[in-house]
Amino acid sequence: MIEIQHLSKSFGNLEVLKDVSLTIKKGEVVTIIGSSGSGKSTLLRCINLLEQPTGGAILFEGKDIVNSKIKIEDIRKNACMVFQHFNLFANMTVLENMTYAPRVVNGLSKQEAKEKAMKLLAKVNLSDKANEYPSRLSGGQKQRVAIARALAMEPKVLLLDEPTSALDPEMVKEVLDVIKQLANTGITMVLVTHEMGFAKDVSDTVYFMDGGYLIESGTPDEVFNHPKTERAKKFLASVL
Ligand code: ADP
Ligand code: MG
Repeated sequence: MIEIQHLSKSFGNLEVLKDVSLTIKKGEVVTIIGSSGSGKSTLLRCINLLEQPTGGAILFEGKDIVNSKIKIEDIRKNACMVFQHFNLFANMTVLENMTYAPRVVNGLSKQEAKEKAMKLLAKVNLSDKANEYPSRLSGGQKQRVAIARALAMEPKVLLLDEPTSALDPEMVKEVLDVIKQLANTGITMVLVTHEMGFAKDVSDTVYFMDGGYLIESGTPDEVFNHPKTERAKKFLASVL
């Protein structure tokens, strides 16, 4: 579904992605791990062009989205992002948050968008919060809304950037449970996380980034139990 080829990204003189290549298959759950500042978020943000890569190519279903004049909305509706800090629209209710883009971007009627939103809210156990504003929700509830909001777009790939890092410990599980449930539905997912146990459990493929390079990849067993590089061994020893 997505083929990233020799991707590079610089901010001014700072090169944060260096010759990154990887392939994401339809239905694959991909996890990206690595220390802070290694380029994980930037890589994720390049996939839906929240960042414009400096070099290389990203083929999305065969079409290069970096070097062609593809419409950004067409990328964003197919590659939806869930952020660490939820990024819900504060001035909209949960339902409005979830129906806005499906109506404006995907052209659903108000009724269609509402029905879809209510179904998704039921899946994340938040049917009773449809008319609340985000400020009245807990962090875990906000993140479950953000996930449901992304799903309402029926994206081809769901991108999650440290979705539990901003949560109080007691709320991490409720969000991981939702993501795990999703991972089992055949959705294509790219997840950046520091939850190593979860990554082990849920991923088809794990990538380890260091200093802007992808330096290891493989099954969870390969990367977590038999890392090849000293750098990955050291990182894993510090987090496991
Ligand atoms: P990670 O998600 O692995 O912590 P990031 O992708 O956020 O890493 O950042 C990688 C590097 O790029 C860091 O050195 C960071 O400071 C830098 N960086 C990220 N975004 C920007 C930006 N918008 N402008 C300048 N530097 C940035
Ligand atoms: Mg990050």
